[in-house]
Amino acid sequence: REAASPAAKPAPAQRRRVRLTHPDRLYWPEQGVTKEGLADYYAEVWRHIAPWITGRPLALLRAPGGITGDTFFQKHAWKGLPSAITLVHDPKDPAGEPLISISDLDGLMALVQSAALEIHPWGASCADWERPDLIVMDLDPGEGVAWPAVIAAAEETRRRLEDQGLAAFVKTSGGKGLHVVAPLKPQADWPAVKGFAKAMADAMAGDNPGRYVSTIGKARRQGKILIDYLRNQRGATAVAAYSTRARPGAAVSAPLRWDELDTGIGPAWFTVENMPTRLATLSADPWDGFRAAAAPLEQPRAKRRKAG
Ligand code: ATP
Ligand code: MN
Ligand code: MN
Repeated sequence: REAASPAAKPAPAQRRRVRLTHPDRLYWPEQGVTKEGLADYYAEVWRHIAPWITGRPLALLRAPGGITGDTFFQKHAWKGLPSAITLVHDPKDPAGEPLISISDLDGLMALVQSAALEIHPWGASCADWERPDLIVMDLDPGEGVAWPAVIAAAEETRRRLEDQGLAAFVKTSGGKGLHVVAPLKPQADWPAVKGFAKAMADAMAGDNPGRYVSTIGKARRQGKILIDYLRNQRGATAVAAYSTRARPGAAVSAPLRWDELDTGIGPAWFTVENMPTRLATLSADPWDGFRAAAAPLEQPRAKRRKAG
């Protein structure tokens, strides 16, 4: 069961239910992508992005003046929130500032109206805040790391996840790196999932200290890939599959099939401009079967494997 599989392409009328002010405002000036262009992009990819952004707490990178203006990372609701965006309360902080969530295309259009140029969901759904339903291993190449090394890191991450009984899917970040994402049956809690991700990052860095680091610290990252496991703690987020990035180039985070992961495709290769065409020519979403492949987290078996 995919989290949501709304009917095909929405009629333009449906997307107009949320009124866009300043539709001609340039969000990515170099590409000429306007606010209305962003709404068109999301209406086209709606069926594909919906499972990743509906029914979850969301953080947003907002940029009212487009990517060349001020941007702010927003984790909570704000005054004058559009009605298509839902307020949700963190069960662990019921009196705290509400967070936001969406459930349909109107909600996504309201995010566009709110100048959300990046959408960053939690790794858990609002149906079960305490039990993540995915793991994101965020591969962050440091200065001087060649792209084939990032691809190799993703493939190694995949092997290690599969060794632990998990499925692995890969996407470009739309920035500099790759994200390897494993679907989980929401059973283990945040500390267990974070511990698992940290153990994997530490094992990668321990086995290959010349290639990988698992702790943030700029000086030690030169020429190495940071295996950023910290996307997997309660309240942390990672950019959604198919979300745009508020960076030059109008790139999007693009799910790939593993056999597409090659030097021909860079981390920012897929964009607002070419993604709709890509999806129209593919017979299926590259991440079809993601939810069906979900497995429960097992206890790390790294030590046993090493010994054998
Ligand atoms: P890249 O491939 O360039 O690394 P990325 O999306 O993986 O792209 P990271 O810097 O590795 O970028 O990840 C940062 C993550 O931290 C974001 O995905 C976001 O969800 C989260 N985050 C938390 N606070 C912020 C913030 N203030 N600004 C931007 N991101 C933030
Ligand atoms: Mn990253
Ligand atoms: Mn990171």
